[in-house]
Amino acid sequence: LPAIALSGVNKSYGRNESRVDALKAVNLEIAHGEFVALCGPSGSGKSTLLNILSGIDRPSSGTVMLFCKLLDALNEQQLSVIRGQHLGFIFQSFNLIPVLNALDNVRYPLLLNGRYQKKEARERALHYLNSVGLFHLANRKPGQLSGGQQQRVAIARALAHQPKLVVADEPTGNLDLATGGAILDLLIKINQETGTTFIISTHSAQLKERAGRIVEIRDGEVDEN
Ligand code: ADP
Ligand code: ADP
Repeated sequence: LPAIALSGVNKSYGRNESRVDALKAVNLEIAHGEFVALCGPSGSGKSTLLNILSGIDRPSSGTVMLFCKLLDALNEQQLSVIRGQHLGFIFQSFNLIPVLNALDNVRYPLLLNGRYQKKEARERALHYLNSVGLFHLANRKPGQLSGGQQQRVAIARALAHQPKLVVADEPTGNLDLATGGAILDLLIKINQETGTTFIISTHSAQLKERAGRIVEIRDGEVDEN
């Protein structure tokens, strides 16, 4: 069974003359372990699609299966538990907490997660900071790190609870080409080493070139090639 299966998914915002059809009859299956680039111009529906497949937003119609669970049947609390256990998120603007150092940015979500004791949370945070090459900068706050380093902290945070699926919305969008390329290398390496499923929205040609699979979205319509 696929990790993700969307069937006949429509999503509209607003109503009447201000209605926007952000997703139109989207069918999409993603297998466990795939590395998928979701490509399309700004406003084509990438964020909407990521929000719906991760249970942050509900479709207007159609069904979403995530890890064999029909999301329509789950309430907000149940969706939030699935996200906390099985999903990791990476954002264009990193979304780190500025007053916390790198270690605590990775550690605190683990403590809030409820599945880890203090000691294990700390060890995991250090382990994942090490795996993104930032062990030596664990004490720095986001403002004392470069953009690429901040995104590495965010990647460690997204991975530290060993999610089945990582959802990344334009993860290299705020980085220069070389830094973005290094972040991409890291994500591909993690995908290959751990089998974690990745879906990444992007404008980046270098990501498109190297993704295992490209899903194009245009005006809310998904087109495989
Ligand atoms: P992308 O991520 O590809 O830039 P989005 O999914 O953010 O595209 O947006 C798709 C379309 O839906 C756009 O026309 C956008 O303006 C609209 N849209 C997205 N979110 C909302 C919202 N919360 N309310 C109204 N319109 C929205
Ligand atoms: P991106 O293009 O980088 O994906 P956007 O700036 O289009 O991001 O959207 C950022 C957030 O704002 C998304 O979560 C999206 O759902 C929401 N959004 C986008 N367009 C609109 C809109 N017209 N009205 C309200 N919210 C929107």
